[in-house]
Amino acid sequence: MSCYKIAQHKHDFLHELPKCEHHVHLEGTLSPDLLFKLAKRNNITLPNHFPSSIELCNDRYEQFADLQDFLDHYYIGMSVLIQEKDFEDLAYEYFIKAKNDGLHHSETFFDPQGHVERGIPIETVVNGFNKACIKAQKELGVSTKLIMCLLRHLPSANGLATIESAKPFYENGIIHGLGLDSSEKPFPPKLFIDCYSEVKKNFPEVGLTAHAGEEADPIFISDSLDLLNVTRIDHGVQSYRDDELLKRLAKEQIMLSLCPLSNVKLQVVNDVSELPIRKWMEFGVPFSINSDDPAYFGGYILDNYLAVESRFNFSGEEWVKIAKNSVNGSWIDAARKKELIEEIDRVYNKYKDLI
Ligand SMILES: [Zn+2]
Repeated sequence: MSCYKIAQHKHDFLHELPKCEHHVHLEGTLSPDLLFKLAKRNNITLPNHFPSSIELCNDRYEQFADLQDFLDHYYIGMSVLIQEKDFEDLAYEYFIKAKNDGLHHSETFFDPQGHVERGIPIETVVNGFNKACIKAQKELGVSTKLIMCLLRHLPSANGLATIESAKPFYENGIIHGLGLDSSEKPFPPKLFIDCYSEVKKNFPEVGLTAHAGEEADPIFISDSLDLLNVTRIDHGVQSYRDDELLKRLAKEQIMLSLCPLSNVKLQVVNDVSELPIRKWMEFGVPFSINSDDPAYFGGYILDNYLAVESRFNFSGEEWVKIAKNSVNGSWIDAARKKELIEEIDRVYNKYKDLI
C-alpha cells in the first residue's frame, strides 16, 4: 500500500467519514499485546512453537502460508480467553481502536462454538461481549449489535444446540443476528437450513446473514438468499462472475460486506485493485467496507477504506454513496440511520472543496 499516495485532505476526509462495520469477528481482534496479557492473567502456557513475544507474533502475522495456517494460530490465540472479563476486554479494545478510525456503528460477529468446545459457557462469552457493547455505547457513542455465527465445519446439529442455548439472549435482545462462517467450500448453505429456519421462526425480527462467495461459486450466494433467507451477504466477492445475480442483489438491495485486506491476505485476490468494486457500483449493488480479523490481517476499518481509495481513487460523492449504503444496510432504526446520514453530509460539506 505504501507505494500508493493519498492526498492529506482525502485521508482526513476518509478518517472522519462516519463508518459502519458489519463484518468483524471479535475473536479476530485479539492483538498480540492483549493475547500475552490474557495468557498471563489466566496462567496459560502457550505451546512451544507459538511465538514467544509481541514482536515475533507480529512477524508471524506477516507470513501465514494459507487459511489453515492462519486458523491453527487463531485457535491457539483463542485459548487465552477464559473469563467474562477477558471477552469484555477483547471487544472493548476493538471498539476503542475502531472508534479512533471513525467508527460510529458496529455489528460484530462471535463464534460461541469455538469457546463452548473448550469448556467456556456461552453465558461467559455473551455477557462479556455485552458488557463491552454497553460501555461502547455509553463511553464512545458507538452503537452495536452482536451477531452469533455458526461454524460451518461443525454439524448442523451442533449449530441447532448452540441456537437452543442462545435463545435467552435472542429473547432479551442481547444477540441480534445469526451468521455462518469458517471454511466455505465443503459446507454449502443447504446444510444449515434447519438452523436458519429455527431462528427465523422463533425470532422473526433477528437479522440473518452468511459468509458466501468468498472463495466458493456464486451459487452459494443465491442459495444463501433462497434457502437461508438471509438479507445480507458476507464477502460476496465471487458475485462478479454472474451478471444475473448482480442484478438481483441490486434489485433486492442485498448488501455485501467486503473485507479488502483480508481478501488479499487469504489470497482471494492478489491485490485490492482486483476486487469487483467498480462493477458493483455500476450495477447498483450496495456494499460496506470491513476489517474481518483486523489483528491478523494488517489493518482496522480505516486501513481498509484507505486500501480501497489507494486503488480506486473514488470521488467525494462516491465515498458519500458508499458510506450511506453502509448506514442503510445496517440493522438499526430509522432515527439512528437519519443521525448517521446527517453526520456523513456534515463531514462531506466540511471537506468537499478540498478533495
Ligand atoms: Zn469473516
